[in-house]
Amino acid sequence: MNRFKVSIEKKVSRSYEVYIGQDILDRAVLIIAKGNWAKKYFLITDTNVSALHGPRVMDIFKKMGLSVEEIALPAGERAKTMTTAVALAEELLHRGADRTSGLIALGGGVVGDLTGFVASIFMRGIHCIHIPTTLLAQVDSSIGGKTGVDLPAAKNMLGTFHQPKAVFTDLSFLRTLPGEEFKNGLAEIMKCAIIDDPALLEILEAKAAVLKPDGDLDVLMPIVARTCEIKKKIVEIDEQEHGLRRILNFGHTLGHAIEAEAGYAIPHGEAVSIGMAAALSLSERLGHLPAADRDRSIGLLQKAGLPIRMPEVMSSDGVLARMGRDKKKEGNILHFVLLKRPGMPFVNGGVSESTIREIMERL
Ligand code: ADP
Ligand code: ZN
Repeated sequence: MNRFKVSIEKKVSRSYEVYIGQDILDRAVLIIAKGNWAKKYFLITDTNVSALHGPRVMDIFKKMGLSVEEIALPAGERAKTMTTAVALAEELLHRGADRTSGLIALGGGVVGDLTGFVASIFMRGIHCIHIPTTLLAQVDSSIGGKTGVDLPAAKNMLGTFHQPKAVFTDLSFLRTLPGEEFKNGLAEIMKCAIIDDPALLEILEAKAAVLKPDGDLDVLMPIVARTCEIKKKIVEIDEQEHGLRRILNFGHTLGHAIEAEAGYAIPHGEAVSIGMAAALSLSERLGHLPAADRDRSIGLLQKAGLPIRMPEVMSSDGVLARMGRDKKKEGNILHFVLLKRPGMPFVNGGVSESTIREIMERL
C-alpha cells in the first residue's frame, strides 16, 4: 500500500494521508477506527455502488466495532443538486447525526463532491473520509478538498473547500467499473502527464492498450499513485486556485463548454479530451509547442479511445458562447492553459475568439 500526506498550508489539522493500494479496505477501516475521528459514521454512497459493494464495506466497518449506517443516494450527475444535499442533511438529522458524527463518501465524484459539501456545512462542519470508487474520483476529485453541487445553469456552482481526514483509494473497486467510466479517469491521468510529467507520459504510451477495468492492476497502481501525487503537489501549493492550480484546468475551458452544450450527455473525460486536443493544437498554432509534441499527446488520447474532435452536430457558436460564461473567467478574460512542452504549461489570457473557433472547426 502506498501512502503520502497532503499538507495544506502546513497546518497539521488540515493535513491528511492518501492511501493507495489493492484490497486495502480492512486496513483502511482499521486506520479509521484508530483515527477516532467520529463517534458514529454515515456511509454515503449511491444506489449502484451500494448494490455492488455496500454490504461488504458495511460488514468490514461493523466487524471493526464501528458504529455505521448506510445512506444510498440516487446515482448519477443529475443527483448532484442542492435538493439532494438538503435531503441528505435532513436524513442525517433524522438518524441522529450530530457534531460528533462523520461522513464516509463511498462512490464516484458525485458522491464525493456531495458528501464533502454536506460535511462542510452540516452543523457548521463535520469530518469526512473519502473512499473513491471510480478512476476519475481516485485520481482527481478525492484529492484537493473541493466540494460542490450543480445548478441547472452550470456544474459545481455552489461549493466549499473542505479537506477530508483521510482518502483510501482501493483499485479493486475498478473491477466493476464500466469501461466508459474508466476512460473518463484516463483522460484526467493523461492531463496530469501532459502538464506535469513527461516520464508518466512515456509509461502511458507504452501501457495504453492494457489500461482498462479488467487490466492488470499492478500496471495501473504506479500510474494512479503518480497522478495523485501530481494533484497533491499542485493543490498543496495552491489550495484555492489563485494561481498554479489553474494548470489543472488544461483542456477544461473548452471541455466544460462542450459538456454544457451537450446537456451533459457527453462524459466529462471525453469532453476534456476534446478540450485537450484543442489546447494542444492552439499551443502549436500560436507557436508555443512543437508540432511533434502536439501529435504525440493527441496520439495518446486516441490510443486510449478518447475523442479528439467536437461532435459533428455541435455548433461552435454555442460552445463559444458557453465559454464566455465560464465560472473561472475573470472579467472578460478567459484563461486558457497552453503548453510549451510536455510538463511545461502556462496560462494564457488573450486568445481571440476567432482563433479558438478556427481550432475547434479544424480539429
Ligand atoms: P465520476 O466519478 O465519474 O465523477 P459518478 O460519481 O457519477 O462519476 O460515477 C459514475 C457512475 O459509476 C455512477 O453511475 C456510479 O454509480 C458508478 N460507479 C461508481 N463506482 C463504481 C464502481 N466501482 N463500479 C461500478 N459502478 C460504479
Ligand atoms: Zn476534470
